[in-house]
Amino acid sequence: MNTWDVVVIGAGQAGSAAAWDLAAAGQRVLVLSRTAGAGKPCAGGVTIKALNRYRFSIDPVVRETIDTLHVSRYPGPGGSLVAPQRFCVMTERSELDQHCLKQAECQGAVFQLTRGITGVRQNLNGVEVHTREGDTFRAGYLIAADGANSRVRHLLGERSWKGAMAIEGHVDRAVISEYPGMTLDFQAIKGGYGWLFPKGDHVNVGLYTWKHGLAAPDRKTLDQYCQQRLGATPHTVSGFPLGTWLPRVRLQHGRILFAGDAAGCTETLLGEGIYGAVLSGQLAAQSLLCGQPESYRDLLADWRDELGKVQRLSLLFYGLLPVSIPMLKGPLGETLVDGFSHGYTLGQCKRRWRGSPSLA
Ligand SMILES: Cc1cc2nc3c(=O)[nH]c(=O)nc-3n(C[C@H](O)[C@H](O)[C@H](O)COP(=O)(O)OP(=O)(O)OC[C@H]3O[C@@H](n4cnc5c(N)ncnc54)[C@H](O)[C@@H]3O)c2cc1C
Repeated sequence: MNTWDVVVIGAGQAGSAAAWDLAAAGQRVLVLSRTAGAGKPCAGGVTIKALNRYRFSIDPVVRETIDTLHVSRYPGPGGSLVAPQRFCVMTERSELDQHCLKQAECQGAVFQLTRGITGVRQNLNGVEVHTREGDTFRAGYLIAADGANSRVRHLLGERSWKGAMAIEGHVDRAVISEYPGMTLDFQAIKGGYGWLFPKGDHVNVGLYTWKHGLAAPDRKTLDQYCQQRLGATPHTVSGFPLGTWLPRVRLQHGRILFAGDAAGCTETLLGEGIYGAVLSGQLAAQSLLCGQPESYRDLLADWRDELGKVQRLSLLFYGLLPVSIPMLKGPLGETLVDGFSHGYTLGQCKRRWRGSPSLA
């Protein structure tokens, strides 16, 4: 059958979240994707607010649970922020994506691999998707959850945006003598940070910069950082842009809704994208299920507003690191990890820091 209620392009976090909700509501959903949970560069850190959004447990793919964060203005001395309970869990991204896709399939979504999308057309009645295999799929609506380099956005003739960039690799735990655990080393790269994320048998190491062009998170810089930090060279290295442009972007194009990095739903301060992907996938599904795709923008308005504020905060934070990092190492940082451990967003943590009673 090539006719569906909804075709979702992309089996990442946004696509699987949308597919799960739609299929659970009885919609006929096809997920078309170039990969099924392989090769997506991502450190796999899932905060509690993201964890709280899943419709199912991701425990089977959790590798470590984190309650302590080490921060530094690299290469200066670090400080430890201890949360009252876990504020983050560590997953391998390929395992997480496979798990979430499987859950969507259990709800009745159908998955199909494709080498790529060659065309997208729409009229008043529906959408048509053409693949490199020569197949044509028809649906009432299309959710484009195909990542920061969205092919669908490109096919619609929309400009591509330049946001944040990151590169990551793995170091086997066996070759590391000592390291502090989950670490964010601000200033390890301009406009960003280096990270060390524990994953059981290995440490995920990476570099993030919040603004394209400020710095090049490339292989050479990652190797240097990793040698200095862990005395080892990373393997399985890959980099990718992050979708951090939601405050400026068009979310809907007729019967096509963008979600996740394709919609620019990632926050800029730390580059956390899994939460925005799951949230936007679910809200895109919600707008279709209530028969009002145009309500999607309103449903995402709070997140869009928060992302705009976080972008402005990033400019200040990374521009004033000699001030920001001492603050982060003190009560501000403690408020943040405490807030994260309660599932708050950055904006909610900020309101809490200012003593606002309303965190909703
Ligand atoms: C190095 C790095 C580390 C990161 N670490 C973290 C982290 O620790 N925590 C966090 O919260 N966020 C992190 N992020 C951000 C996070 O990875 C993204 O925000 C998130 O993956 C977005 O999910 P998505 O589903 O929108 O897109 P993606 O995960 O990019 O999924 C897109 C899907 O679309 C498919 N696809 C792409 N093009 C096509 C096409 N033409 N046809 C068919 N299918 C297609 C892909 O195969 C894929 O399945 C990191 C990002 C990077 C680059």
